Amino acid sequence: MRRVLFLLLPLLFAACTARVVQDQPAPAPAERQPAAQIQDATILTEDSLVAEELQQDGNTAEPQHLPAERIPVLVYHHIREHQGWHKSTWSWKMTVSPTVFAQHMQWLADRGYTAVDLDTLVRIFYGGEETGPAKPVVITFDDNNPNTYENGLPALLEHGHIAVFYLVANRMENPAFLSKEHIRDLAAHGMDIQSHTMTHANLTTLGRERLQWELTESKRMLEELSNRPVRHVSYPLTAHSAIVREAARQAGYVTGSIMDPRPAHRQGDLMKLPRIMMTDDTDLEAVLP
Ligand SMILES: [Zn+2]
Repeated sequence: MRRVLFLLLPLLFAACTARVVQDQPAPAPAERQPAAQIQDATILTEDSLVAEELQQDGNTAEPQHLPAERIPVLVYHHIREHQGWHKSTWSWKMTVSPTVFAQHMQWLADRGYTAVDLDTLVRIFYGGEETGPAKPVVITFDDNNPNTYENGLPALLEHGHIAVFYLVANRMENPAFLSKEHIRDLAAHGMDIQSHTMTHANLTTLGRERLQWELTESKRMLEELSNRPVRHVSYPLTAHSAIVREAARQAGYVTGSIMDPRPAHRQGDLMKLPRIMMTDDTDLEAVLP
């Protein structure tokens, strides 16, 4: 009989510095984050830690591994062929070719990664007894691009990977983007539908009322469509501030994601969940632990 110590961390977040991060235009991800994420993260005080020892009886299976300390979160925008764009352009940086995307999905499967949704990430970090898979990863898509459905979904399904689709709610009637039918089909295939706000506006420039509407109305619309809770937001243009993060918390979001080329960490601030931007040049060995 062994005693296993689990830390149950309440979802408390201190207000952080009002640093605004924007990615358009922006330097390459590697240049964008000079400070260590951990230094900038919420500091959990002793008061916010609740430690509980769970006595396991002989009939209960022991966990095979400890919950992950770090979980890489990958972000894709377009899964399409390159059209001769220069590598310095956003068109190139926001595109992964279907062949490379399929290779990424195969690589994750071959290396024993399990794609999880964001609720699972939160439970692995803070849920206590849930250890999650040995090698969790989160795959995300931003911006409602139809090629993520046409070229992305088949490769996901081939390996049984689930992915998070952060969607801009007012694009659902626009024929240039994923339709409601597409989105319902993604949800039916187990994909995680989450919010990329109502209009993709830079949230740091908005007044309180508009900011609240971007967060709450998109949540409501996407919950209605997917019939599942929407508790995660991706800040458009990765632009956020202490005011934006607090508004997101108030609107009921548990995580808010940004671009940052490092894995999410248990002690990081979930309202600044780092995501690694994927390109055709990404070296998976280098970015995945
Ligand atoms: Zn976006």
